[in-house]
Amino acid sequence: MRMPPHNPHDISRHDLDDILGTISQEVRQRFGEGKVADYIPSLAHVPKDRFGMALATPDGKIHEVGHARERFSIQSVSKVHTLTLALAAIGDDLWKRVDREPSGDPFNSLVQLEYEKGIPRNPFMNAGALISADVILSHYDDPEGTLLGFMRARSGNPEVGTDEVVAKSERESGYRNVALANFIRSFKNLDNDVQDVLDFYYLQCSLSMDCVDLARSVQYLADAGHCESSGEQVTTAEGATRINSVMMTAGTYDAAGDFAFYVGLPAKSGVGGGIVAVVPHVMGLCVWSPGLDEKGNSQLGRYALHRFTRMTGLSVF
Ligand code: GLN
Repeated sequence: MRMPPHNPHDISRHDLDDILGTISQEVRQRFGEGKVADYIPSLAHVPKDRFGMALATPDGKIHEVGHARERFSIQSVSKVHTLTLALAAIGDDLWKRVDREPSGDPFNSLVQLEYEKGIPRNPFMNAGALISADVILSHYDDPEGTLLGFMRARSGNPEVGTDEVVAKSERESGYRNVALANFIRSFKNLDNDVQDVLDFYYLQCSLSMDCVDLARSVQYLADAGHCESSGEQVTTAEGATRINSVMMTAGTYDAAGDFAFYVGLPAKSGVGGGIVAVVPHVMGLCVWSPGLDEKGNSQLGRYALHRFTRMTGLSVF
């Protein structure tokens, strides 16, 4: 006789701490894999033998393992949060200025911008994140304070801040970002001063947070836009569904297909080695391990997420 299908959203049947413990043991045996990002000089010194993972469920529970309370540079993970703020400011008009298609190109690629006339492929490539930054600069009175407040409220951690050394390092080495911003501006798709847009972008990338903060910071995407930490409705249920879908198709750049294949969750990575992921209607997650694969995603972070969805059956597929 066929068993009735289990409810995939019922996580009470899993011992999540046990699962995290197993994943952590497996990952530790692989420490050393991947390459720490060194094109931003201040990131080059982060030790590779680090692994943390945290899960945040809508009832406020946290499950964590390893270096889940060690802060790291969140880098492009912040693009999820700035997309949320940009959508809150101008809604669907955002999609006139940035597309929502996967790119198949690296995160800092310039090539499509020329023949697509300054419209970035998606908000998770650097080019697309510059559009979100521009929108935030135009529509919030205190853009930096708004972003910081947003991250503190989402994570429930009032101490979240930026790492000035990383921001400075990005400013000094951001040749590609400077090129991207100027190029987009030449198509009149930036309204603000190029340097102001870049400064805001470097600020968001230099936010320093840990896995617990970041798992909490995306929990609203697992609960129809409702943030457990602050009790606020951050975006609509439709907004959360849409952001998750763009994370699925573009959150890990030209490895988004591979992520769907191996992990099967909306995810957003950063070159600091962090990856946030969402199990829709179930939980927000974050993994961190600084060694990156050739696409700029945390190599052991991806492995950990793969093991997690396989052990729990929580892949959306
Ligand atoms: N600050 C990094 C950059 O602009 C962010 C890239 C990333 O995390 N993928 O290159």
